[in-house]
Amino acid sequence: MNSNTINLIEPDASSARVLKCCVCAMAYNQEDYLVLKDVGKLSYFDFSFKNEEKTASVSPVCHFCLKEVVLKHNTEPEVRVVISAKDGKTFNCVFYESDKG
Ligand SMILES: [Zn+2]
Repeated sequence: MNSNTINLIEPDASSARVLKCCVCAMAYNQEDYLVLKDVGKLSYFDFSFKNEEKTASVSPVCHFCLKEVVLKHNTEPEVRVVISAKDGKTFNCVFYESDKG
């Protein structure tokens, strides 16, 4: 059974951590991320994936790269995922192999 876990990373103004997408290397500090996330321009995610063979984790990954990462770690042409936010909200999302690129 494959399982994908995707958590939305919330900006944390008290943290000095710079968020840097490990796919495209786009990086922002927490203050900038807070602003960009508020206006819906950018989200970072923690992605982890588990199947019979392996577990993989990619974090942080920006929303531009999330689809590529999800499809890379799944063999299905259509991948349904649930994205969880810290406040308990969840978002259902479907990624299609045919949209790739
Ligand atoms: Zn990226």
